[in-house]
Amino acid sequence: MADLLADIWDNILRYFQKYHSESWRSWFEQLEPISLENGLLRIGALERSWKQYLKQPECNDSLKVAVQNVTGRLVGIEVVLSDQEEESSGEPSHSGDSEASDSPVDGDESSFLYFSPDYTFDNFVVGPCNRLSHAACVAVSDSPGETYNPLFIHGDVGLGKTHLLQAASQSILNNNKDMRVMYLSCETFVNHFIRAVEEGDLYDFRYKYRHVDMLVIDDIQFLTDRDRSQEEFFHTFNTLYQSRKQIILSADCSPSEIPNLEERLISRFSQGLVTRIDKPCMETRMAILYKKSQLRGMNVPDDIINYIAKRVENNTRELEGALTKIYGMAMLDGGEITLDLAREAFGDEPTQIRHQITITQIIDAVTQHFNVRLGDLQSKRRSRSIAFPRQVCMYIARDLTSHSLEEIGGYFGGRDHTTVLHAYRNIDKLCDHDPTIRNMVDGLVTGLTLND
Ligand code: ADP
Ligand code: MG
Repeated sequence: MADLLADIWDNILRYFQKYHSESWRSWFEQLEPISLENGLLRIGALERSWKQYLKQPECNDSLKVAVQNVTGRLVGIEVVLSDQEEESSGEPSHSGDSEASDSPVDGDESSFLYFSPDYTFDNFVVGPCNRLSHAACVAVSDSPGETYNPLFIHGDVGLGKTHLLQAASQSILNNNKDMRVMYLSCETFVNHFIRAVEEGDLYDFRYKYRHVDMLVIDDIQFLTDRDRSQEEFFHTFNTLYQSRKQIILSADCSPSEIPNLEERLISRFSQGLVTRIDKPCMETRMAILYKKSQLRGMNVPDDIINYIAKRVENNTRELEGALTKIYGMAMLDGGEITLDLAREAFGDEPTQIRHQITITQIIDAVTQHFNVRLGDLQSKRRSRSIAFPRQVCMYIARDLTSHSLEEIGGYFGGRDHTTVLHAYRNIDKLCDHDPTIRNMVDGLVTGLTLND
């Protein structure tokens, strides 16, 4: 019977690895099938974060499909913690909720972020682009509240901020299960606050956020334009700071670049250590690809690692996406990862388009559309008829080229990178709210990418 279960489980794993390779991780091999009875498959996981990972919809749905295909039946899945962990009273106290099962904080599963088993210090590659941010996170998790407080990490999207924040949180919890660590996105904080105000629950809200040992908030730029949440956060911050509790924050820009952030918050955020993560260099990109392929149990030849690292320069998430795509293609195609396959995978990767479109092409398209001249865009003029097309150019240039914000700003009359960031956000917001503008921008982008 045990052998039968082991066989079934092995087939499930192979099916999963082949058809859902994007979610496959090498530690799946260490999961343990416990029983298959009454339409329920019980699986034992060694780590709490594995269990959380398996329960996330992206993975859970794929697991169900694999189980159904192998057994030919609809089977429910239950993941439990193997070993003594299950009985252990010292549950990691995310947010200090001592009754926490594996569900986050207060049962509001959807709004809380899980820790990903991928996001640990062990799985983080240190390079010149992120050395300081990494070292600061390690220091903070070794002695919370005593080194850099607050620690503020900023950088473009996809460069590893969430990874580092989660790594620091998980490391602290691993060292001391009784630490009350609260890790969440700023959006969740704001939503909780709004709900607490509506429901007259501010007392509980404040108690919860102000009685933690470490507060880690991701994407704090979400406080932009939210006056009451800013006010609330200011007091949360002060209470924790005064009791020497560690605070870690991340954002897509430095504190002073967050639009419409109260001065007193800017100064609070800047009073500890502010560090930036930059784009990874070629060597770091290659090391990240090695690390990611290990994590996914893939054997990727050096020339392919090299090829991917050359093709994707800006964003680590895209680097990983390319690797996963190539691996997925290989799994469905006999399992061998070849350079030809990698080339084919890039055939329709947006990164390829990005490298080919130049700022001049973007300007040509925009000036033609708005009937303005390049000289106008580069001038100091700020009338809407000029400023708007200029912002559209900056927006498209940021999305379609690999120029830095500084370079783009420099091109448009020596403007600095905050102007470009502001332009980007402005057009992004307009696109969200005004379909005419969305269509106009989409039309320009399509024209550029098709002509390419
Ligand atoms: P951000 O929060 O800055 O947008 P993430 O932390 O979500 O970025 O990172 C995007 C992806 O890139 C994640 O899968 C993360 O593991 C990976 N990543 C980024 N930097 C590194 C690094 N230095 N080493 C390993 N993985 C990295
Ligand atoms: Mg993030």
